[in-house]
Amino acid sequence: MDKQGDLEVWYIGSKTERRITVKSVDKAMPYINEWTKADLKDDSIVFNSMGLEIYDNNGLDGLMWQEYYNDSGLDIEAIMIAKEIIDSYPNGVCPDCLEKIPEDVSDEDGCDNCGHVFSTQKEND
Ligand SMILES: [Zn+2]
Repeated sequence: MDKQGDLEVWYIGSKTERRITVKSVDKAMPYINEWTKADLKDDSIVFNSMGLEIYDNNGLDGLMWQEYYNDSGLDIEAIMIAKEIIDSYPNGVCPDCLEKIPEDVSDEDGCDNCGHVFSTQKEND
């Protein structure tokens, strides 16, 4: 069975270790959200870690599972932060100049157009 291009999302919590194969990054994100929420209810939690890997037959050093980066060079954590920021603004645009928020935005980045600082915190006017 050719697994080329398959994605595997993994999550390690204090008591749990989970892994599942998914077909797209969008399908990986809900698992990470769900597993994180489940872990946060456990007050014994001391650490958690997660990631997304892609299967690549042509991987370097014979490694088939490699960390996934999107076209902008973001790993899954950065992708999820960017999504959270974009989703927290109406229509995914800058509230000051209405410019589209870039897909690779990170917390505290300034708008290229007007300098508005983006963050994951909902803004209260
Ligand atoms: Zn702006």
